[in-house]
Amino acid sequence: MSRGGTSRPAPQDDYDVVVVGAGMGGLYTAHRVLTIGLTVRVLEAGAGVGGTWYWNRYPGARCDVASVDYSFSFSEELQNEWSWKERYAGQPELEAYFNHVADRFGIREHIDFETRVESARYDADRHRWFLRAGDRTYGAQFVVMATGPLSVAYGPTFEGTDDFAGQIYHSADWPEGVDLTGKRVGVVGTGSTGIQMIPLLAEVAEHLTVFQRTANYSVPARNRPMSEQEMAEVRATYAKRRDQARRSRAGFPPRTPPISENSAMAVTEQQRREVYELMWEQGGGLAFRASFSDLLTNRKSNDTASEFIREKIRQVVKDPATAETLVPHDHPYATKRPPVDTNYYETFNRPDVTLVDLRETPIERLTSAGVQTSDRTYELDVLVLATGFDAVTGSLSRIEVEGRDGVVLKDKWKDGPRGYLGMAIAGLPNFFTVNGPGSPAAFTNMATHTEQNVEWITDFIGYLVEHRIRAAEPRPEAEDAWTRRMREAGEKTLYPEANSWYVGANIPGKPRVFMFYVDGFDVYSEECDRVARSGYSEFTIFS
Ligand code: FAD
Ligand code: NAP
Repeated sequence: MSRGGTSRPAPQDDYDVVVVGAGMGGLYTAHRVLTIGLTVRVLEAGAGVGGTWYWNRYPGARCDVASVDYSFSFSEELQNEWSWKERYAGQPELEAYFNHVADRFGIREHIDFETRVESARYDADRHRWFLRAGDRTYGAQFVVMATGPLSVAYGPTFEGTDDFAGQIYHSADWPEGVDLTGKRVGVVGTGSTGIQMIPLLAEVAEHLTVFQRTANYSVPARNRPMSEQEMAEVRATYAKRRDQARRSRAGFPPRTPPISENSAMAVTEQQRREVYELMWEQGGGLAFRASFSDLLTNRKSNDTASEFIREKIRQVVKDPATAETLVPHDHPYATKRPPVDTNYYETFNRPDVTLVDLRETPIERLTSAGVQTSDRTYELDVLVLATGFDAVTGSLSRIEVEGRDGVVLKDKWKDGPRGYLGMAIAGLPNFFTVNGPGSPAAFTNMATHTEQNVEWITDFIGYLVEHRIRAAEPRPEAEDAWTRRMREAGEKTLYPEANSWYVGANIPGKPRVFMFYVDGFDVYSEECDRVARSGYSEFTIFS
């Protein structure tokens, strides 16, 4: 049934809902929209589904949240039929999973691939959005932007890039069939991505040169195969596990041993060390971050975790000078998203791996032969950019979005993003964002977060359709209050101390503001539920 609310004959590309993006968020939104009986079209720039797991094909790409939790919970059948092969699934397995979801729930036929949305304009008279992608225009009553918080690759433009005779690959746009065997490879970037790929590149390259600007804190992943028996054990309590994740602080089920509610300062040094050692052995960066309750709010507590990891680095890396270069000093632990690794620090003990400290010897330019720093030229066949993303706002800012009365999203966000609950924006009626700025997204298991966002948005769309309401948008005062609450919560933490993508500091010229709600996924979900129960009282209704 189409409830578009317009008397015009429906053109071919006219839908109740247009969803942009066919990652985790877009796929689930389409499924929910179809379930409530509305028409939907998903527009996806890539040639396949999976979003993050379609684009990021670099060696070693895998999730850092256990796959049994970093997966959809909405279908018991799906949970029962899919067996994860590893504790942390690699990119191929995750991509296969999202393809399975697209086929199993009949979503694929509702997707236009290789369709990049360039603009979205609201027609206030008709209460409809019109989205342009190339020479096609799609009309819809509702737009759901599931364009991803980490979907716009950022690659610095080094002087002389065109002179370089070798190949340059970005981790998030990794071509098929790249063979680095026997090549002289350079990597710029030591975030989660660089840290995952560096040990694997070292295994195949003739020589690997790692260009590091900021040393990072990494914790072992401890990935391992998942047996069928382990899957069966998870399935036996899956419903409870998912329910607990949905009501938790960061979208995870309870851990064994339980996450400490203590301050790191409330225990003795020996007790602290025992906790950190246990977390180190169990593996997982997000688990390590939760070793104590106040690692991100109390500098002294954080220092204990930071120092523990520094000691580990010095123990693993044999050459003291290399170890010191790898030891982070300029930001507190986990104020950048904590990476996990398999043999990252060990890799620097290899004779065929060189670490270049860009703080000492910055990159000056690329030449035909390779990378020239202030010190020398490193000859390379391939340069890999693991330099991250124009995160959180990047994908939306690249679309010309114009709402009611000339509200232009790019202008509205010029000093940083503003919105309500990370899902709706004043001036843009019937326009929703999944995993958007102002939500807790990056501070959670994003599978849990995505499901919560999608369910709230599609319930709201269902409510509007059922009540024959043509449009709704958050009241400006609600948006102001939420934006303030979100930023104030961030400022009370140590997060703003790091030059991270959380605050936009990784992109030259981007406004430096904290972009997530960090007071807990549980608190956030309750607030979202309250708004729904109140009949969406924080929204202006256009009937
Ligand atoms: P995405 O998966 O990014 O999908 C967005 C889609 O929108 C993309 O396919 C993109 O092509 C499309 N799109 C964007 N703009 C347009 C446009 N204008 N027109 C058409 N299509 C467009 N989170 C975790 O919780 N745990 C993890 O272990 C984890 N690992 C990660 C590993 C990597 C390498 C990266 C980059 C991120 C990781 N994340 C992880 C975060 C991850 O992005 C989210 O978990 C989740 O995949 C986000 O889903 P999404 O649907 O919101 O966005
Ligand atoms: P990132 O965390 O932003 O790291 C980018 C790296 O590139 C940093 O080391 C940065 O140095 C460096 N860099 C950027 N520009 C540079 C320049 N001009 N010169 C030299 N170095 C430069 O990006 P990412 O590693 O791709 O990760 C982004 C996010 O994706 C993660 O935080 C995480 O949320 C997600 N992710 C998750 C996993 C996982 O394990 N599941 C894996 C990959 C990614 P500075 O620190 O000095 O800026």
